[in-house]
Amino acid sequence: MEAQKNPDWDKIKKEKRMVTIECDACKKHFAVEDIVPETETVDVKGNTIIADFWRCPGCGKLYVIMLKDRRMRIKLQQQQDLLYKVQRKYKDGANAPESLLKQVRKIKLEIDDLEFNLKNTYLEIVTAQLQKGAE
Ligand SMILES: [Zn+2]
Repeated sequence: MEAQKNPDWDKIKKEKRMVTIECDACKKHFAVEDIVPETETVDVKGNTIIADFWRCPGCGKLYVIMLKDRRMRIKLQQQQDLLYKVQRKYKDGANAPESLLKQVRKIKLEIDDLEFNLKNTYLEIVTAQLQKGAE
């Protein structure tokens, strides 16, 4: 009997793929390949925040992709370990049991939640600091 491919795995993989990005400021579209991601560490009131960001190749506007505090870095590591485990044991996740995919989805939601809170708390101040540093 042929094992059934779990369709959720394709969905999870697709979520990570982006095609083009539009700049709000200059309205130009850019392929993800044309964007050079940068990473800088910013200290905000004693919290070490690692910011992944990119600058619009057209006008230079700064966009923060992700902010990572210590908690977020631990979560991302857990997610990476889990995805590695799924891929190693179940050939790219196609045959992974539902219970394991549930864990993958749960950790994704936790990361989304942390991301939302981090952006709420730090986005403005971190963006301002990064822009100041570029001048
Ligand atoms: Zn732009």
